[in-house]
Amino acid sequence: MRLIDHLPLLRAQESDTPTLLIYFYEPSIMSFADSDERHWRFVQQSLTELNKTFAEWGHHIYTIHDEALAALRKLTELFNVTTLFSHEEIGNNLTYARDQSVAAFCKEKKIEWKEFPTNGVVRGLGNRKLFSQNWMQTMSAPLYSVDLKNLISIQLPANLLPSFTTYFPANPRFQPGGPGAANKYLNSFLYERKSSYSKHISKPEESRKSCSRLSPYLAWGNLSMKQVYHATLEAIAKTGDKRNLQFFGNRLLWHCHFIQKFESECRLEFENLNEGFNEIRNKTDSNLVAAWEAGCTGYPLVDACIECVKNTGYLNFRMRSLLVSFFTHHLWQPWQAGAHFLARQFLDYEPGIHYPQFQMQAGTMGINTIRIYNPVKQSIDHDPTGLFIKKWIPILRHVPPNHIHQPWKMTELEQELYQVKIGSDYPHPIVSISETAKHAREKLWQTKKSSVVQKENRRILKLHTNRKAEAEKTLQVEL
Ligand SMILES: Cc1cc2nc3c(=O)[nH]c(=O)nc-3n(C[C@H](O)[C@H](O)[C@H](O)COP(=O)(O)OP(=O)(O)OC[C@H]3O[C@@H](n4cnc5c(N)ncnc54)[C@H](O)[C@@H]3O)c2cc1C
Repeated sequence: MRLIDHLPLLRAQESDTPTLLIYFYEPSIMSFADSDERHWRFVQQSLTELNKTFAEWGHHIYTIHDEALAALRKLTELFNVTTLFSHEEIGNNLTYARDQSVAAFCKEKKIEWKEFPTNGVVRGLGNRKLFSQNWMQTMSAPLYSVDLKNLISIQLPANLLPSFTTYFPANPRFQPGGPGAANKYLNSFLYERKSSYSKHISKPEESRKSCSRLSPYLAWGNLSMKQVYHATLEAIAKTGDKRNLQFFGNRLLWHCHFIQKFESECRLEFENLNEGFNEIRNKTDSNLVAAWEAGCTGYPLVDACIECVKNTGYLNFRMRSLLVSFFTHHLWQPWQAGAHFLARQFLDYEPGIHYPQFQMQAGTMGINTIRIYNPVKQSIDHDPTGLFIKKWIPILRHVPPNHIHQPWKMTELEQELYQVKIGSDYPHPIVSISETAKHAREKLWQTKKSSVVQKENRRILKLHTNRKAEAEKTLQVEL
């Protein structure tokens, strides 16, 4: 959903063939458990902006409310379709199945489907050892530029296909979709906000400004990774701030590295990467899941994060990790029981990052260090005065910093003084984290040492990469 660096659009324009520009709002994908209105509002805002630009050249993107295959079938009855141009989508199992049926249909109808890679991710890459090198080459190439004047677009006759008519009103708490907003975020980050990027990266409140906030624009394609990479190099040259921007640049590589990992192991959407963890943590307790989703765990930072992500679609990396760590280690729930809920909350939901990250935090990758975050320590370290907590849990607004991280420790008198009754206004802790951390540590460490996990680890490392590159933190980009 952009015009700059859009290879399928460029190739369509260069083909000199009349082109129909379409976006499918697919009912099966929109109603799946990982999907939320926030995602489709973002898409709609992006398409509205693009159509304004297209209109200046007499073009229009049609929005079709139907399954891609059914719509393509109807289109081939009306037009002599020779070529389908698109980017490759590294999505969930549902979009993969759709791609397979579309590919089979194209073959049957002798339509050439030209799919173009996105963001340096290579389909069917057997071994990831060369990933970083390939990625650098892709990012260093020039941006593609479409000449809209020379695009021959065609009109879709009215009522031939159901168009998408639902309107999603803007919600000012969420980042707006569209290349215009994407570029504003990109420039304000590279030239202003980046100065405290590394300092505040884990702070739940401050990071909302100091982090780039580019993730939804990358996930939904308002920006290509190459555009961001080029703009970052330019900003380093102009500002000389290599420290913060190097830190940022490494994360751009991680973005694609995770998607590449998912591309080669898409079963990560459903199964533990390391099957040695299959025998532990496989029962779901719906009460614990419901309490976590409702932000009623009694741990203020955890509950504030849930409230914040529900209302804004954003959390920084550390707070996402904390939520998953709390869910899988302290509540001892299978990661699968929480993954769709957070996918619906994240405006930047990207299956290729989401599932591998969920598994990393849950410890089911086997090869990574397992971290069991202590929600009280994280709260003291990253929200010392409770600024973020109080913003999202207003009932705690009068509680002073010395009690905000563990409000259950307040006496009856203090609760009265600070106008919150623990147990009725705000819940008691749902679990005792000293006990749950001990339990999780013992179980995970024991499992990690098992011969099944060790054997699986050897398989994973051999299959995909060398040990050094697998540790995400060592993945560095040369800027
Ligand atoms: C459980 C869990 C689920 C996640 N799900 C998603 C998701 O669905 N979509 C998504 O884009 N990110 C996801 N992340 C990664 C990360 O939290 C977000 O990319 C980041 O917080 C987005 O904020 P930002 O754009 O301000 O990041 P910045 O810190 O400004 O980083 C710049 C860009 O680098 C990439 N990036 C940053 N950190 C990571 C990381 N750890 N792994 C991979 N890429 C990274 C993102 O594209 C980001 O926009 C997840 C992390 C966890 C722990």
